[in-house]
Amino acid sequence: MSDALAVQCCIVGGGPAGMMLGHLMGRAGVRTIVLEKHADFLRDFRGDTVHPSTLRIMQELGLLGRFLERPHSVLRSLGVEIGGRHFRVADFERLAPPCNFIALMPQWDFLDFLAEEGRRLPTLEIRMSSQVTELIKDGSRDGRVAGVRAMTPDGPLEVRSNLVVGCDGRASTVRAAAGLVVQALSAPIDVLWFRLSKSPDDPQNVLAHVGSDKMLVTIDRAAYWQCAYVIGKGGIDRIHAGGIEAFRQAVAQGAGFLADRMAELRSFDDVKLLSVKVDRLRTWSRPGLLCIGDAAHAMSPIGGVGINLAIQDAVAAANLLAGGLRKGTLRDRDLDSVRQRRLFPVRVIQGAQVAVQEKFLSPLLSGRTRAPRVPWPVRALDRNAWLRRWTAALLGLGVRPERVSSPPYR
Ligand SMILES: Cc1cc2nc3c(=O)[nH]c(=O)nc-3n(C[C@H](O)[C@H](O)[C@H](O)COP(=O)(O)OP(=O)(O)OC[C@H]3O[C@@H](n4cnc5c(N)ncnc54)[C@H](O)[C@@H]3O)c2cc1C
Repeated sequence: MSDALAVQCCIVGGGPAGMMLGHLMGRAGVRTIVLEKHADFLRDFRGDTVHPSTLRIMQELGLLGRFLERPHSVLRSLGVEIGGRHFRVADFERLAPPCNFIALMPQWDFLDFLAEEGRRLPTLEIRMSSQVTELIKDGSRDGRVAGVRAMTPDGPLEVRSNLVVGCDGRASTVRAAAGLVVQALSAPIDVLWFRLSKSPDDPQNVLAHVGSDKMLVTIDRAAYWQCAYVIGKGGIDRIHAGGIEAFRQAVAQGAGFLADRMAELRSFDDVKLLSVKVDRLRTWSRPGLLCIGDAAHAMSPIGGVGINLAIQDAVAAANLLAGGLRKGTLRDRDLDSVRQRRLFPVRVIQGAQVAVQEKFLSPLLSGRTRAPRVPWPVRALDRNAWLRRWTAALLGLGVRPERVSSPPYR
């Protein structure tokens, strides 16, 4: 027999967007449920970069101190190594303290933290192992979304809700079920993702290593390096055909300090492929339903901004909708205000990601450039501290940063 619930806000997906929106809605006194299909947050394919914009939101919510008690590493500046030369590209220390660094924390720890804090809120429920399979529509002519059906370990669950928010990522079930139209943007790269151990002599803070036909990103996860090897779209068959030894050599050429631990890559089972997508919805809502985060705009890993943009969407959605939802005065036409507020930053960031992919990465990965050319903006940034503050603000705080204005309910 199916279980049934009624709430004011039903959030599908417990990623960064869903967990932050759940927290903000619960804090504002909106009766909210988050449905997450996995039993835990332990999935090793996500970004780890918690940017100053997200730290600032945590500070506004009074969560920053407790958040920073969790194990994390700190990135105060960003550098890139091109053809063996090091260039500084962003100085976060120049932003206003205490949110003047990037916290590197495995995403499952970050989500666990939000879940733990969220469970203190009486109007928020988080249900794991609950996979949404379809939308419930009412009998009206426009087929207003009135809830969702989900599968749980205890059987089917039906949730009736005044608002359903799709936060279920770039392969969103909700947006597909609602028939929202996705516009694909260029994504000529894929990423190979693996771990290598750390040694005390390893360099710090350099994130991107650019060689003559390759790019390797090393993310410091305190106990090990999380590495991302960027390849041309669909290039995985060529890499596999070359064999694991050729791949090890390519990685060692990308970042020489890792050469002594290549045996840790025993086979391609230790290397995961992540297909990169950049897209966005034309409309983010329809009556009774809104999509945010990657469900509304899938982000490239370039700049490591996806988590933070998803959090910004959640803050904007709560600022604009929580009051009306709680009081029961929210109208369907109010939902588009979230897209109107967030489209500009999404466009700017996706535009920058597409430009880097097409103008820099594609020619580099195709091997058409003999020696890696140092782009002039990189040279200018290395020379000019003021410009590095500007890139830190753009990357760290984003365009049109959100502040929490949805009031806590007492
Ligand atoms: C290779 C790679 C590296 C990246 N690195 C970074 C980085 O370093 N920093 C950064 O900021 N961003 C990074 N990103 C982007 C970032 O991971 C995403 O932009 C961000 O996770 C989006 O958050 P979200 O909450 O919108 O969606 P997601 O994180 O995708 O979360 C969606 C959630 O919904 C759940 N779900 C899906 N379907 C259902 C369903 N039917 N029912 C219930 N639950 C469901 C999923 O299990 C998941 O928990 C990277 C992306 C890639 C591809």
